Amino acid sequence: MLFRTLAKPDFKALVERILASTEVIGPKRVGTDRHGRPIHHYLPVESFDEIDLDYETTEFSAKTYFLPYKENLCSYRFQDDDWRQEIRYRIQPRAIIGLHACDIHALIKLDKALARDFFPSPYYISRRKNTFVVGIDHDPCEGGFCRSLGTDTATHGFDLFLTDLGERYFVAIGSDRGFRALSGLPAAEITEQDTEDYLRVRKRIAAGFKTEINVQNLPNLLDIEFESPVWEKWGGKCLSCGSCAMVCPTCYCYGVSERVSMDFASGAKTKQLYSCNLIDFAVVAGGHNFRPNRQTRLKYRYYHQHRGFMEAYDEPKCVGCNRCGRTCLAGINPVEVIRDLQAEDET
Ligand code: SF4
Ligand code: SF4
Repeated sequence: MLFRTLAKPDFKALVERILASTEVIGPKRVGTDRHGRPIHHYLPVESFDEIDLDYETTEFSAKTYFLPYKENLCSYRFQDDDWRQEIRYRIQPRAIIGLHACDIHALIKLDKALARDFFPSPYYISRRKNTFVVGIDHDPCEGGFCRSLGTDTATHGFDLFLTDLGERYFVAIGSDRGFRALSGLPAAEITEQDTEDYLRVRKRIAAGFKTEINVQNLPNLLDIEFESPVWEKWGGKCLSCGSCAMVCPTCYCYGVSERVSMDFASGAKTKQLYSCNLIDFAVVAGGHNFRPNRQTRLKYRYYHQHRGFMEAYDEPKCVGCNRCGRTCLAGINPVEVIRDLQAEDET
């Protein structure tokens, strides 16, 4: 890994240079919640000044720029005993400025499932490869437990990663593309002082975490507690709204529907993200529902996050961002659910 420092006005110049030719997404303040706390979303911006890099978290993750909630997989048309199919991948470049480390880890996990597994998704890959990612360090967000999952800092999965040192950024360069982006800018070789300042900031961030969970042995615990009353307790509250999966940066379950025109001349296949908490998630042809109650659906989500993904990719799917906990109207919070399971195991 190469490191440089870049004065803040020079970083602004870099973003403005990218803006001249590329769509840029950044954390944008869109309002305040009922407690007066700012609400941010990752949105397209037209100038650097619209980006608020001091944001705490965003309500939605940046997943939508890689896995849109709804996308056309293909369109087709029948003609003269034949048919023609049209498939479009996103090839326009895009830049996302200011992703936090946990969201970069979320992309790394999606890469494993959607770009490197047996059935890679060309739709995902085209978006991922055409997106320039600039990450940034930040102080812990309320309720975030990313440190417990090892996702509070990123060493790859980005093009550039910034740490705020006051007047300048400490910049980790994660790709050739990131290296080239700095060309022509007065990015300086790091000094001993820069390294000291960087380590001091990292130490301050690490000391700021208030929420921690122990995920050691969690996959085994989930198997042991498969019939635990904890699932009744939390599942009984669940409204089956699916919001947790929609805001989650790593949930990628989806459904595909096909619509054919009334004259049978054309049709289209559409993919839509889905949530395992929705009532019909496990309905199969013939109408049988393998998970008719909300307890088993909630349990399934936790099993995929902390057991199934672990078995497939040697790491949990959850990055500890707590977006699901923040958004859940029923007050279901992953930290409390996991702590309850652990307490169950101790009784
Ligand atoms: S957001 Fe809460 S209530 Fe809605 S499906 Fe998820 S756990 Fe259930
Ligand atoms: S399960 Fe919840 S805490 Fe974990 S990555 Fe998804 S939204 Fe974040």
